[in-house]
Amino acid sequence: MQVSCIYDSLDASVSYKLICMDKKKEYKQLLHDVGLKATNSRIYVLNFFDDVKRPVCVKDIDENINCIDNVTIYRIVDIFLQKGIVRAVHVCGDSRFFELAALPHHHHIICKECGMIEDINNCNLKKVIKEIEKGSCKFNSITEHTFELFGICKECK
Ligand SMILES: [Zn+2]
Ligand SMILES: [Zn+2]
Ligand SMILES: [Zn+2]
Repeated sequence: MQVSCIYDSLDASVSYKLICMDKKKEYKQLLHDVGLKATNSRIYVLNFFDDVKRPVCVKDIDENINCIDNVTIYRIVDIFLQKGIVRAVHVCGDSRFFELAALPHHHHIICKECGMIEDINNCNLKKVIKEIEKGSCKFNSITEHTFELFGICKECK
């Protein structure tokens, strides 16, 4: 299998992350589609977003990708945001966290201690919302919703 570099992990025992060629192709295509040059740095950051499966802040990315400097990571996240590759996850007025914009509708659990956010992948609110819709005097339809849960993560407990 052909692989290309690489980001260092927080955990020193897992020092290298290999990106397989198929994934790399997919990322290149995505970057080209929005008119961005597919630089290695952008590919690594994209791969990180794809891998972590939870909203991350620039600090998280910086801590996990040692071969790219902090300023470059800021710029990459900013251009990804402008191009609609990632979206900001707004939690209680805090918009430091980002996730891939292509992710389907889902909700989050937020740690009250450290601010870590986890994705909740299935939304089971349809039935509840239908009932609220039926019971409403002023609305015919409910078109959108947000739902956030708060707790203490396992690391903080
Ligand atoms: Zn926590
Ligand atoms: Zn999410
Ligand atoms: Zn939902």
